Amino acid sequence: MANAALSIKNLHVSYYGNEAVKEVSLTVHPGNLVGIIGPNGAGKSTFLKAMLNLIPRDKGEIKLLGKTVKEVRKKIAYVPQRNDIDWDFPITVLDAVLIGTYPNLKLFKRPNKKDKEWAMECLRRVGMEDFSKRQIGELSGGQQQRVFLARALAQKAELFFLDEPFVGVDVSSEETIVRILKELCWQGKTVIVVHHDLSKANDYFNQLILLNKELIGFGSVQEVFQTEIIEKAYQGQFAFMKEIGV
Ligand code: ADP
Ligand code: MG
Repeated sequence: MANAALSIKNLHVSYYGNEAVKEVSLTVHPGNLVGIIGPNGAGKSTFLKAMLNLIPRDKGEIKLLGKTVKEVRKKIAYVPQRNDIDWDFPITVLDAVLIGTYPNLKLFKRPNKKDKEWAMECLRRVGMEDFSKRQIGELSGGQQQRVFLARALAQKAELFFLDEPFVGVDVSSEETIVRILKELCWQGKTVIVVHHDLSKANDYFNQLILLNKELIGFGSVQEVFQTEIIEKAYQGQFAFMKEIGV
């Protein structure tokens, strides 16, 4: 059988002695579009960063595509939460996407015409080819998020991690992003998306990881999207739940 896309065993992460992620174990197989859902402060971003070795963990084993993060780094694309990115950094849209091709470039080799054409192709896929010469700081939230998706596409990754890609994003950008994420999964790639609310979770994802420090639920959307399980994760946020009709 093919390697699992994601295999997490007994993951614990804390900040200065406070546990943010506790005892999480799960396995995700390739070709899934997985939502990581849970209230604010539930440890979703922490979980994502720990899986990518961007922050240290207290304990736990992480295998991506059957290997350690270090061994598969080139095959992993990560789009951080928008407020984790320095948007004043002076870089054009095309260059930001070209960075995505760097893992595949040989050492000391500069991007050539072919790399640039590929970067433009990725920009076209997200509908941003007309903005290639703009500074990333000049773009709207939705446009920025599409450019970062283009960068992930340029990397030709197998595993995609996106942290709250729909925050501060217009409806049409959101639709474009969702469409592309679904296409990636149809191609057998695996996409993991942090999403802080439950609305549209049904339409967007086929599996859900429901997190509130601990793993509250994991499985198909049908399995996880049940009142008792949701209540457990979103303790005290019943008004919100009624609003979205859970
Ligand atoms: P989410 O992404 O689900 O909103 P986070 O993973 O950002 O949650 O945060 C989980 C918990 O860890 C929160 O209580 C948050 O305050 C805390 N936390 C996150 N990052 C840090 C940090 N760098 N230092 C200390 N505490 C942090
Ligand atoms: Mg977060």
